[in-house]
Amino acid sequence: MKYKIDNAEIILKIGDITEEDTEAIVNAANSTLMGGGGVDGAIHRKGGPSILEECKRIREKEYPEGLPTGEAVITTGGNLKAKYVIHTVGPVCHGKFTQREKQLLYNAYYNSLKIAKENKIKTVAFPSISTGAYRCPVEEAAKTALKAAIDFIKTENYLQQVRFVLFTEDIYEKYSEALKEIINEI
Ligand code: ADP
Repeated sequence: MKYKIDNAEIILKIGDITEEDTEAIVNAANSTLMGGGGVDGAIHRKGGPSILEECKRIREKEYPEGLPTGEAVITTGGNLKAKYVIHTVGPVCHGKFTQREKQLLYNAYYNSLKIAKENKIKTVAFPSISTGAYRCPVEEAAKTALKAAIDFIKTENYLQQVRFVLFTEDIYEKYSEALKEIINEI
């Protein structure tokens, strides 16, 4: 599914984010920045050790206590097609989604796009942050993700493309529903 908004487009697709050819892909990292399971593990496996080395340097220099939830940092893309990986930390929901989780998830998307712009990146691919091990409800997470991307595009007028690369058909359907709903409200 594709949706044009100002000078940018939002694309929803089913796929594996480690295969994407956008300038940057976003990693649903954890605050240690030391790698983990799910999409985080897949990105480090395919991208190679240079990503983890840079994460370690950033952790030591800038975030000795760990990267706070909702914040984002950027590293090389290593052996990936994408030149950069933007690492962000979504909230741990345990199934609940109050204003707090919503705001933190919004921040994770928005701050990732801010870092993209600061690095002159115009095409970015996201996974569905916090909807795996962190267990945020997908319908709500999808609305928040799409709203953050649309807000950023409208406010900054910089990006060319924001791609949501959804791992399963079920998650893709939920993002499509959420996007249709948002389009109807605009
Ligand atoms: P979190 O800890 O933020 O919940 P997970 O990696 O556990 O992160 O899951 C986030 C989402 O990423 C889930 O929807 C999961 O299905 C999806 N995912 C896992 N591997 C990949 C991949 N290679 N490409 C895209 N999405 C993936």
